[in-house]
Amino acid sequence: MLKPRGTNAAGHKGWYEVKCRICAKKLYIGDSIVYHCPKCVQQFEAYFCEAHARKLHYRCPYCGTELKLFI
Ligand SMILES: [Zn+2]
Ligand SMILES: [Zn+2]
Repeated sequence: MLKPRGTNAAGHKGWYEVKCRICAKKLYIGDSIVYHCPKCVQQFEAYFCEAHARKLHYRCPYCGTELKLFI
């Protein structure tokens, strides 16, 4: 049986699953290292895994804004 993710004592909102825009790797905000573009995150779901954020030199491929670590 699968253990549900999201039991976190710190009053966390629970895991929020996103996908890297480039490799579609599943990332869990609060668990994985997730980078995002604050400008494009709503329009393009601009989330990136650590490896691809590095490959992009921490710049958004859509608008060139510096990527931020999603915490
Ligand atoms: Zn990736
Ligand atoms: Zn952007």
